[in-house]
Amino acid sequence: MKERVTKSVYAFLMVCAMLFVFSFSFNQVAHAKSITLTNWHSNASTVGYWRSNPKVSFKNLNSSFEISKYLSNAVTAWKDDGKGISSVVTVVPADASIKYYSGTRAELNGIGFSYSATDHGCTRYFSRKKAADANNLTVVMEYFDVSASTQINAPNKQNTTTHEYGHALGWEGHSYTSTDVMWENTHAGKKLSTKEKNHLIEVYKKMR
Ligand SMILES: [Zn+2]
Repeated sequence: MKERVTKSVYAFLMVCAMLFVFSFSFNQVAHAKSITLTNWHSNASTVGYWRSNPKVSFKNLNSSFEISKYLSNAVTAWKDDGKGISSVVTVVPADASIKYYSGTRAELNGIGFSYSATDHGCTRYFSRKKAADANNLTVVMEYFDVSASTQINAPNKQNTTTHEYGHALGWEGHSYTSTDVMWENTHAGKKLSTKEKNHLIEVYKKMR
């Protein structure tokens, strides 16, 4: 199975490099033939969506980091009073398309994530397919299975959880705006902005 990893890191130089590399593919997506996305705020060339509302399960690998409250808040934040993307938390892992884990980096690496010393969150996309009406452009993906995780010493557990959950819902890449939750660096003290939400909401509205 193909696997792709999206991480949140502190390395500012890496952010600059990524902005440069992805600037061209960003324009390609904005001018896609069969789907016009007017709310593009990511430095990545793809974005994902779930065909039906996903369920998310959670597991605390470390008893000192209880994730359920943060995950529920993340679900609520992206739902945006019904204007956004609906998803629900389930306690049955077999029912879940998204699986969320919390623990130390070593614990998370132990179950297959790839954390370095500076990563605070990590999302893996296990499998995905192109949307049929994306006119052969690699624009919109539908995920089969996603795992997201947060390590225990994150500077802001809530925003790191909300950030990784955004990736799990389909937000690939990162925001260009340093005050956004989907910005790549530390997430402390940030708020999920309307434009970041709209980046995903428009895809869900047009593709479903
Ligand atoms: Zn990220």
